Amino acid sequence: MKMEHINALKALLETPREVAIIPHKNPDGDAMGSTLALWHYLEAKGHKATVVAPNDFPKFLKWMPGAQDVLNFERQNAKAIGVLEAAEVIFTLDFNELGRVGQMTPVLERLNGTFVMVDHHQEPGEYAQIMYSDTGMSSTCQMVYHLLQHLDASDAITPNMANCLYTGIMTDTGSFKYRSTTSETHRVIADLMDKGAENTTIHHHIYDTNSPSRLHLLGCALKNMVILEEYATAYITLSQEELDAFQYEKGDTEGFVNYGLTLKGIKFAVIFIENRDEGILKISFRSVGSFSVNRFARAHFNGGGHDNAAGGRSEKSIEDTVAYFTSLLPRYKDALTQ
Ligand code: 5GP
Ligand code: MN
Repeated sequence: MKMEHINALKALLETPREVAIIPHKNPDGDAMGSTLALWHYLEAKGHKATVVAPNDFPKFLKWMPGAQDVLNFERQNAKAIGVLEAAEVIFTLDFNELGRVGQMTPVLERLNGTFVMVDHHQEPGEYAQIMYSDTGMSSTCQMVYHLLQHLDASDAITPNMANCLYTGIMTDTGSFKYRSTTSETHRVIADLMDKGAENTTIHHHIYDTNSPSRLHLLGCALKNMVILEEYATAYITLSQEELDAFQYEKGDTEGFVNYGLTLKGIKFAVIFIENRDEGILKISFRSVGSFSVNRFARAHFNGGGHDNAAGGRSEKSIEDTVAYFTSLLPRYKDALTQ
């Protein structure tokens, strides 16, 4: 983070402020962990802070300290707009283009407060006056930890904050196994444990909360998997009927896309999930090695993310989207099979 931005943020937070803290739409562990940890910190410092999420977040994150105080823009719209309009400082965490907050985008575009971006995704936009963008970081939670270091506030990390930050680092690194996991990440994790993060409890809360229907939905997803060995690619589809048949709840499909990559020789894994309410397919892309799914998602599916994990969307049917997707593969054959 640039010195001038650190100093600007320090100056901004010197007096008590009205603050809004915003994760991306469909917030994951990193988005919720980073926003909640920052919220705990700012509240303890005497600011009036509120986390405003564009929509709901999965049940397996509801145990997080502070989760019950998060405003849901979709469900508590008037109240959320009031908080956003009153905010002198607006933190946007774990995303870097205003389009990532769905229905909230036009509201953010007309706010007068100072925007602060903390994020690790590729190709950041330019809406924030204060920016901390580092695409080499494992997670936004690790960046909030470093941000607190920059603000000389490491000692202010409470056990609640440590639990939030640990969660996001763990979920965004696939439990410390992705390439973005560095020795520094492990040093941060070690310090968070010293500061009260309950590692075993967190793993249990996140990974051991399956319902029978979720496991059955996973069975359905795995049955639907199509393997295209020629392109080192595996993809899964889930239709709205299939989701309904297994009583789909938000968060149930988290991690399904990764099963493709556990196949020997597969370098590119995709899941297409129908969302009839929104009239779209939500798509997740994952890769191992040098094939950039960020670039693929940006070029063809109106999305983006990281080199090895990205998302996107399609407004076509599952059949048409899959046909389009498979028609793209020949031009990536060399990159996928080299
Ligand atoms: P997921 O597939 O788990 O939803 O997302 C994978 C990564 O890509 C996450 O870091 C997420 O923030 C990012 N991502 C997901 N969907 C989109 C999208 O539509 N646009 C952009 N720019 N990033 C996305
Ligand atoms: Mn993240």
